[in-house]
Amino acid sequence: MLGGTVEGRLVGDALAEAGHAVTTSVAGRTAAARTLASGGVTGGFGGPDGLAAWLTSHSIDALVDATHPFAARMTRHAAWAADATGVPLVRLDRPGWGAHPQAPTWTWVSSHAEAARAAAGRGRALLTVGRQPLPHYAALATVYARVAELPAEQDRRFPDAWMVVAARGPFTLAAERRLMTDARIGVLVTKDSGGASTAAKLEAAAELDVPVVVVRRPALPVGLACVPDVAGVLAWVAAR
Ligand code: NAP
Repeated sequence: MLGGTVEGRLVGDALAEAGHAVTTSVAGRTAAARTLASGGVTGGFGGPDGLAAWLTSHSIDALVDATHPFAARMTRHAAWAADATGVPLVRLDRPGWGAHPQAPTWTWVSSHAEAARAAAGRGRALLTVGRQPLPHYAALATVYARVAELPAEQDRRFPDAWMVVAARGPFTLAAERRLMTDARIGVLVTKDSGGASTAAKLEAAAELDVPVVVVRRPALPVGLACVPDVAGVLAWVAAR
């Protein structure tokens, strides 16, 4: 079970409860992710070959990719290793926000560089794109960035004047409304992560007439078997 997400933990728990032996793996970038995988493996496999070798040496019967929709490299590696070893693979692909009623009013872009250009000149940006992409937005002078875990000092490659705050969802509509009002947010920039726990910002932006810029998801490997939720993974495993 490739995790690092809430769904990953839920899948791991549900499979264990159903009597399967489960090993959960996380990249180990954040303290929270490491606790999500307690008893599992942390730190990566050393590329697709490493994952393939690990699957074989641990006699793995099935591989579940429940990584974040923007963890594209891990998803590619999983698809490659599954092909190379013959281990069946399923991807838990949580639905994105494309079907949200406000989605047609948002500016959809394909990269963080494009998102930064789309947000320029619209006042203070609320960035909810994660910690790693922040340097792409360095040209924006006034920013409130919300991240799950603060970047290390050496990774602060953005203006000192930015306000960078660590907070984890779920976020309520009332809290998002208050944040956008108090911080005088002029534009919201987000990734199409999907899920309910961070969706309230989209409602708040609509209510307050704050424009929204959304970074599209990276494409999935061709032919990858996908299910939308934890129940789908359980059914897929049961069918084997
Ligand atoms: P990434 O770019 O797709 O992966 C980079 C490398 O990290 C992979 O090549 C792999 O190293 C290692 N890795 C990633 N996920 C792993 C896992 N579950 N188990 C073992 N190794 C893993 O990933 P990322 O975007 O940096 O995200 C890292 C982790 O954070 C992912 O597990 C993801 O689910 C979680 N996460 C990401 C985001 C996001 O916005 N990107 C948000 C929330 C949570 P090796 O090549 O050495 O195997």
